[in-house]
Amino acid sequence: MQYISTRGQAPDMSFPDAMLTGLARDGGLYVPAVWPRLSHDDLRGLAGLPYPEAAARILLPFMDGIEADELLAMTQAAYANFADPAIAPLRQLSEGHWLMELFHGPTLAFKDVAMQLLGRLFDRELARRQQRITIVGATSGDTGSAAIEACRDRAAIDIFILHPEGRVSEVQRRQMTTVLSENVHNIAIQGTFDDCQALLKGTFNDLTFRDEVTLSAVNSINWARVVAQVVYYITTAVALGAPDRAISFAVPTGNFGCVFAGYGAVQMGLPVEKLIVATNRNDILHRFFQTGTYHCEDVVATQSPSMDIQVASNFERLLFDLAGRDCAIVRQQMAAVAEQGGFQVSPAALRQARELFLSCRVDEAATTATMAEVFRECGIAIDPHTAVGLRAARELMPDGPVVTLSTAHPAKFPDAVEKACGIRPPLPDHMADLYEREERFAVLPNDLAVLQDHIRRLRRS
Ligand SMILES: *Cc1c(COP(=O)(O)O)cnc(C)c1O
Repeated sequence: MQYISTRGQAPDMSFPDAMLTGLARDGGLYVPAVWPRLSHDDLRGLAGLPYPEAAARILLPFMDGIEADELLAMTQAAYANFADPAIAPLRQLSEGHWLMELFHGPTLAFKDVAMQLLGRLFDRELARRQQRITIVGATSGDTGSAAIEACRDRAAIDIFILHPEGRVSEVQRRQMTTVLSENVHNIAIQGTFDDCQALLKGTFNDLTFRDEVTLSAVNSINWARVVAQVVYYITTAVALGAPDRAISFAVPTGNFGCVFAGYGAVQMGLPVEKLIVATNRNDILHRFFQTGTYHCEDVVATQSPSMDIQVASNFERLLFDLAGRDCAIVRQQMAAVAEQGGFQVSPAALRQARELFLSCRVDEAATTATMAEVFRECGIAIDPHTAVGLRAARELMPDGPVVTLSTAHPAKFPDAVEKACGIRPPLPDHMADLYEREERFAVLPNDLAVLQDHIRRLRRS
């Protein structure tokens, strides 16, 4: 499988290279040159398979350089520590409405599904090349813990995660700082999240340092992360009758990674009725699907913080297809975002997008009301991100059949859940002792040179 850049000015790459490279050198994102197809018989053949086996079958054609049995061993290892053996179990709420629970991984949010596999894919490829990397990331809460869990104990990786001291919730901090693996380094920066991001940028912009420690990132545009998410759309649809029945999915959306994976499943031949793009008040994507205009505004803080995003980085992958895979159009659009804050697509492109995508914006009051409603009707506490998705599903497709992606465990957002439902959701058993576990982290001033020294000293070489 060859991967091509959405901006057309970077070299084509094999899967391992696209994975290690992340962002293409021309600023574009890698996409498959051709989507592999699953026939209806292939889809039927997935019915009843354990999740890791279905994942290995679906992912194999994307991952050149990996043998089938080796990939299966990796998917089995990646999903062995999920609290539910189904990995992405379905829960029916009412006739025509289901939740797909994607939060049974080690950090209680859906990013684990892709990250757990990504850490292993990275490690395997680095070992093969006899290379090591240093991953540095900044987090305001959630992504840091998923990255740490994915990279802990990996032989070829050292990981340093910066968080703003005293400005992440205690659950979020402890999910990171109680991982005591030798290759995991948490750093509390005496500053804000913006300071952490500026330091991160500083480390990447210092090219000497960057080469010295072979710096890398595992951000949400990485192709390997996106493709790992295609799997649960397919296994869920098959469990509900695909290919002989087409259902819809409602997807709480921030960076457009998760919902783009649903689009990928459709490109592979999965019959899907609609993909519902559900946003909170940060609604750039909703406005796009309503008007064809993509225009950035200021980010506002909501109770679903993992979706408080204005520039949806993975959206470029869809724009590339909507432009008929014309890289010059994508380059123009991205230049317009940088220069004027946005652009408009052609009426034909908007029409094409709307054949598959619906969209809905859900405000704070409706999010809280939906959490309360589901608790009253079904006795289930859902987290605010899931509530945004479910509200969109109920508004746009009251009769279904539609599956809402449940992207976080309610215990990850206890304050929002308590406000809506009047109960404080407990942590699951495997994390019940989180508040007693030993923590380890360094506290550093907001100073690039100090941070770089710290990384030099602690990375294993
Ligand atoms: C990251 C995240 C999302 C948004 O996913 P994207 O792929 O960025 O669209 C939704 N819910 C939760 C809980 C998340 O952590």
